[in-house]
Formats: sequence, C-alpha cells, structure tokens
Amino acid sequence: MSAKIAAPRGTFDILPEQSAQRALVEHAARELLEAAGYARIETPAFEATELFSRGVGEATDIVQKEMYSFDDGGGRSLTLRPEGTAPVCRAYVEHGMHKLPAPVKLYYLGPFFRAERPQKGRYREFWQVGAEVLGSDDPAVDAELIVLLHDLLKRLGATVRLRLSSLANAQTRAAYREELAAYLRANEHELSETVRSRIDLNPLRAFDSDDLRTQAVMAKAPRLIDRLDSEDAKHFAEVRSLLELAGIPYEIDSTLVRGLDYYTRTLFEFTSDALGAQSGVGGGGRYDGLVELIGGPPTPGIGWAAGIERIVLAAQVSATRDVPPDLYVAHEGRRADAFTLTLAARTAGLRAQMELGGRSLKGQLKHAERISARHLAILDAQGTRLDGKPAEDIVRQVLSA
Ligand code: ATP
Ligand code: MG
Repeated sequence: MSAKIAAPRGTFDILPEQSAQRALVEHAARELLEAAGYARIETPAFEATELFSRGVGEATDIVQKEMYSFDDGGGRSLTLRPEGTAPVCRAYVEHGMHKLPAPVKLYYLGPFFRAERPQKGRYREFWQVGAEVLGSDDPAVDAELIVLLHDLLKRLGATVRLRLSSLANAQTRAAYREELAAYLRANEHELSETVRSRIDLNPLRAFDSDDLRTQAVMAKAPRLIDRLDSEDAKHFAEVRSLLELAGIPYEIDSTLVRGLDYYTRTLFEFTSDALGAQSGVGGGGRYDGLVELIGGPPTPGIGWAAGIERIVLAAQVSATRDVPPDLYVAHEGRRADAFTLTLAARTAGLRAQMELGGRSLKGQLKHAERISARHLAILDAQGTRLDGKPAEDIVRQVLSA
C-alpha cells in the first residue's frame, strides 16, 4: 500500500453531515439578505497582491503575515483572497457600479485563505458570508447591516454580544494616532516588545495586546471615541439610536480594533462565549475611503463578514442529512427495468433511489427499511410489486399515495 496523503494543515473536508449544517447557515443568510435587497456577488479566489496590500493595509496582520502569495509565472504577484471587502470594491469600480442607483447592496459567500496558526475556529481555508453596501453614508445603512448580522446569528440560535465603536474620519484618526503614539512613547518601558515595535506603524493595535503590563498602560490611554468631531459624533449617535429602536443591545467598546486599516466611523463585532479564544463570530465597519484608495471615485461604503465555521460552532447548528426517499427500487435480475422506473419516478418529481450496492433481495429490503423509504418497489422474476402488492403504474401510485 502507498503512503496516505492527508489534507494540508489548517484545512478541512466538509463531510456530508457538516454540509447539511452549513446549508442551513447559508440558506438563512441568503434568505435574510435577499429579502433586504442584497444581491449576490462572487469574486475570484485570487487577486493581484497589490489589491490587498493597498486595500487592506500594509500595517495589518493580514498583509504582514497571513497572505498566501505566489508568482503567476509571468512575474506578477497574486494572492489567495484573505478577505472579501477589497475584492468587492475592486469589482464595484471595475464594473462601473457607481453608475447604478445608490446604494449598491451586495453579499458574498465563499472560501477565504489566511496563513494562520490553525486552532479551533481558526483555519487556513475557511468560509465567510459577507455583506457590503456601497454609495451611502446614511447611518441607517450601518444600523441595517448590524441588524442583519444580528438577526442571522439569532435565527440560527447563537448567543452573541455586540461591541460597537466609531473610528472617526481619516484626519481625526491621524491626529489621534499622533496623540496615542506620543502617549505610548512616554510609557515605552511598560510596553511589550511587539507593541513597542509597532508604535509608529500601527499604534492602535496596542489596544489588542494580551500583555498584562501593556494592558495596564492602555487602560489609561486616550480614546479615539472621545475625539470625534461633531459630524462623526452625530453619525455615531444616529447609528446608536437606530440600534436602540431595533431593540439590539450593544456595548460601546472604545478599544475595539479590527484587522483592517481602512475603517472609518462605525466599527462593530459580534462575539460568542461558546467559541473560546477565537471569540469573534463576525464583524465589520465603515470604510469611506477604500473605493477611492483602489482607484475608484470617492464612495462611502460599509460591510461585515462572518465565519461560517464559527457560526456553526457558536450556534451549535444541527441538521439531519438524510431525507428519506419516496421510493426505493429493489430488483433481482431486472436492472434495466429498475433503472427505467427510477428515472421515471425522478422525472415525476419523486425522491427515488434504486439498489446499487449489489445486495441480495433480502438485504435490499433491510436497506430500504434502514433508510426509511416511504415506498418499496420490488422488481424480480415473479413480477413487479409496490409495498407488497402487485402493481401496474408504480410512479402514479406513489404520487397519489
Ligand atoms: P480574529 O480576531 O479571529 O483573527 P479577524 O478580525 O481576523 O478575526 P475578520 O477579518 O474580521 O476576522 O473576518 C471576519 C470573520 O471571519 C471573523 O469574525 C471570523 O468569524 C472569520 N475568520 C477570520 N479568520 C478566520 C480563520 N482563520 N478561520 C476561520 N474563521 C475566520
Ligand atoms: Mg485574524
């Protein structure tokens, strides 16, 4: 025997029972989002590397260490998509969607790739469902998106917490960045090695640190949420009051930092205690500068993404895979008749299966029982029977039963 070949680390097979659970999640997502006017978009599994280095941000974990990049053989660098927002914005620009009536509401559902250390709920290939709205900075868009993700998780049975913040606009953030960097420098000796090395590159990530001494410093750090200008403060207040109208509880968390550089204003994350260390189920935020950053016209945008595997874990989605067939066709010495009958039954809309496992007639009857077939046809030398009685037109009889 040859040596076995296993799936790569951090990847997984979706086995039939799991695919039934995932189908429930996907179905619920599709139904909720389409009912709210979102249309599906799918982008390629790989893109020009530059889309992510520019669109996600050089300073992010994703770009610095999580991308699967490769040379396409012609000297161009391509990357397996680590996230969906930059690709959707790329498609929006490429297909001139800014000429469509605004806002453009899109959703996607597919595999993403990140070179991470595999753990429970953290894989190298995983699936996300995501939604993006381009062309409107109306706070009702922010609230609608948050409500949709909340409703999806709730409908599937997940208990989640919502954390909410505002990242202001680029100018306020730049000024705040300086203020925070100065504060970090003043407390440099108390900070972890990583945080210290990122003071200039990305000081906001210091809030993310799991180092205890760093956390003590960060507890007293200035907060961006206290620096919002009046426009951003008004926008944030609107989003909050719409969430309150929708009856969705949330916590303001001014330390909320998400892994993408381009966020502005509203930022949110849903977490679940059922997940352990990887507690994030899904989240997102507003990215009013992103479309322009990747070569499009100035266009406000906002979106979220949620991991299908983490939703399944958080919601403990259960599904039964096997729907019993309407008709099981057992046969002995009459394969062609059984085949024709099975096809005819399917054409008539029945869920029909014929014996394909080489069982004895007795074994076939047992099998039909095991899979709870509603009706059993037997085709053998003695004739044709349905549920033990001689039968003429089996399909018609099953249909009218
Ligand atoms: P985390 O804090 O777990 O690293 P993230 O901030 O990197 O998450 P996002 O980039 O916002 O996550 O992606 C949105 C969602 O996609 C996450 O909330 C999570 O459910 C899922 N996700 C992200 N990375 C992975 C992964 N490596 N494996 C499985 N799911 C993932
Ligand atoms: Mg991550």
